[in-house]
Amino acid sequence: MIDLRSDTVTRPTPAMRQAIAAAEVGDDVYGEDPTVRRLEETVAELLGAEAALFVPSGTMANQIALRAHARPGEEVLIGKDAHCWLHESGALAALAGAQTQQLPGDGRFDGRAVRDGHKPPLSYLSPTTVVAVENTHNMGGGAVWPRPLLDDVLAAARDLGLGTHLDGARLWNAAAATGAAERDLARGFDTISVCLSKGLGAPAGSVVAGRRALVTACHRFRKMYGGGMRQAGILAAAGLHALAHHRARLVDDHAHARLVAERLADVPGLAVDPARVETNIVMVEVAAPRSAQALVDACAAQGVRISAITPRRLRLVTHLDVDRAACMRAAAVLAEVAREAT
Ligand SMILES: *Cc1c(COP(=O)(O)O)cnc(C)c1O
Repeated sequence: MIDLRSDTVTRPTPAMRQAIAAAEVGDDVYGEDPTVRRLEETVAELLGAEAALFVPSGTMANQIALRAHARPGEEVLIGKDAHCWLHESGALAALAGAQTQQLPGDGRFDGRAVRDGHKPPLSYLSPTTVVAVENTHNMGGGAVWPRPLLDDVLAAARDLGLGTHLDGARLWNAAAATGAAERDLARGFDTISVCLSKGLGAPAGSVVAGRRALVTACHRFRKMYGGGMRQAGILAAAGLHALAHHRARLVDDHAHARLVAERLADVPGLAVDPARVETNIVMVEVAAPRSAQALVDACAAQGVRISAITPRRLRLVTHLDVDRAACMRAAAVLAEVAREAT
């Protein structure tokens, strides 16, 4: 089975399992797990952040960070189809009590959109308190934010007195794609979340980093949300291993994604623009009357798993556990089933 549904489907490598087995651990709710401490220090350093906190998932990282920025009834500005709104079970509404406003664009937006969307603290408004950026943007097809656009958004946020959060679940991919250091992409944000369990291949774990006062607030919300873990060094060791050994190879995933897009570009009934494949995600539009789900099912019958993320859109994600040959085989199978469906 070739699984391109997500970069979360990877399994720990033998070397990662060894790192897990050898991890020195302690009770992290008491702040006594040396491996968790080391991971937090490593990520803080990589992101140029004052402090960092290990959490079980990217969802928790985003949610406690945004909860630390916004009080109930306040508003979070987000891009179109942001993960923290679309794929986190309504947590911003249910747990933070925050209102969200999606800014127009492809997931990315500019400072002008922030200024236009901003609501001041008048009695009858939900005052805007934070703006959240997603880099790379998942539903935007793994799109990378150009640094000038980030600066434009950060300048608008600063002028308006808004907090800033970076959902960097795939910040590692943005860094690999641009050649920029993660800390250069994180610069200027008050809080940053990063995932170890996506392209980096750890079994679980994310980190929320940023200004010390906000990370301290996140620490309390982590416990409140049920994310205080005990001998979590078992997981942190996998994260440290992933950071050391799986970051540089992300460029391979990006090359594979581009090859998949190129292979599919001329297939009748499918639409994909290889030039828009910047990282490890390939979005493929399916022409009516075919449904994306029908193509998913036909691929699965041939041992290739991909996702239908809307009735007419497929998503393929490359990762550590699929090499070039597996990616090319998946593209060939999708091309074939698309042709048969015409
Ligand atoms: C995967 C993802 C997250 C977090 O997801 P978890 O599954 O909770 O770890 C957050 N943001 C983006 C953009 C993601 O792709």
